[in-house]
Amino acid sequence: MTVIDNDWSAPSVAAPLRNRAGLEIMPLKSPIVFLLSLFVLVPSAVCAKERSEAEARKVAQRVLARAIVIDTHADTPQMMLDDNYDLGDPASPYMISIPKMRAGHLDAEFFSIWVDVDWPKQDLIHRALDLIDVVNEQVARHAGDMEMARTADDIERIHRAGKLAALMGVEGGHIIEGDLRVLDIYYQLGVRYLTLTHTKDDELGDSSTDKPQWNGLSELGRHAVERMNRLGMMVDISHVADKTFYDAVAISKAPVIASHSSCRALCSAPRNMTDDMIRALAKNDGVMDINFYEGFLDPAFASAYKAIEPQMDADLKAAREKAKQEGKRLTYGEEMKIQQQYAAQLPRPSFEKIADHIDHAAQVGGVDHVGLGSDFDGVDGFVPRGMEDCSKLPNLVIELARRGYSEQDLQKILGGNLLRVMRQVEQVSQQLGRTVYGRR
Ligand SMILES: [Zn+2]
Repeated sequence: MTVIDNDWSAPSVAAPLRNRAGLEIMPLKSPIVFLLSLFVLVPSAVCAKERSEAEARKVAQRVLARAIVIDTHADTPQMMLDDNYDLGDPASPYMISIPKMRAGHLDAEFFSIWVDVDWPKQDLIHRALDLIDVVNEQVARHAGDMEMARTADDIERIHRAGKLAALMGVEGGHIIEGDLRVLDIYYQLGVRYLTLTHTKDDELGDSSTDKPQWNGLSELGRHAVERMNRLGMMVDISHVADKTFYDAVAISKAPVIASHSSCRALCSAPRNMTDDMIRALAKNDGVMDINFYEGFLDPAFASAYKAIEPQMDADLKAAREKAKQEGKRLTYGEEMKIQQQYAAQLPRPSFEKIADHIDHAAQVGGVDHVGLGSDFDGVDGFVPRGMEDCSKLPNLVIELARRGYSEQDLQKILGGNLLRVMRQVEQVSQQLGRTVYGRR
């Protein structure tokens, strides 16, 4: 969940690929490296040579036929729980559905178990359990299409069987209510990552969007990272303060992930990652999954959004009040209609901005450390043109192929890197021994 954004604008139907004539051209490597790359495979090589549109489409088709495409962050469970949203709905207004996943070649989705930081403290775990339940219920209802995955091997097996893999990550350290044993419970229920903070500081550490109170990870936060290493649960550093990030990579015995974070060098949001952080993440052998929210991709959008935000929030508040007076609640679909009207006034970036952030992360940290973390259904519709929902993922693959990524590198970015990290996390857990007793 991103909490600052919004609109459900562009219709999901076939937005044509843009004319690419005006696009930035990737700098060619030095002549010597370029010549060498003709003969040997250069590890982590980024964008050897641009391809034509027709070539790029062929490459994308081949890659999508083989790759396991994994997205590490979608907030769809709240729609399932609060609005009885069915993942099989062929007319889904949301960004993730089974038909859209099939159309977009999206093979595995990490559903976010997100609970608002202002949710009543005594009910955080109950709400999380409700969300976990509803994901399991949806997967059971669509057992012919989807299956829960708990390991990297599960994802591969489910993919081989022609089904979609569903996974879960808990978004925010506040959702364990200060008791590390709850991590064990979430793990047993299938949760495979925990985001250390959401938008406010919590018992585990400082958030990037709050005043620091722990100077990074708290002592409980350090125990949490250690416990997650033992359990085999990925440590997610999206949303955390820079210092919390550095503390986490310093003590984690396993690679960490940023489940939905973009590059601060391209768009200065506090929860985007600096180049130095990207390098530290690469050194930790982790993976940074690029967030598709326009406000984290494009500074022009971010400032235009700020200007309309107060009025849009006031309209949303009034609509919620009105629904409440009528004994109802405003559904996510109704909220999106209001946001859509505002979105129409904003300069919307295209999906190529996502490719820009992938390029940047790959150039700074290496192609082994970047992936996809859409934040679909958590950004109130504010995703770039040409990436309105997960059925549009092939647009991005074609664009990356056009920019010259090798087929092998594309497979890594689309999901291979995340599978590698998941396996390493599983191995570290086996080495450390899973058993931990006590609250900390
Ligand atoms: Zn988030």
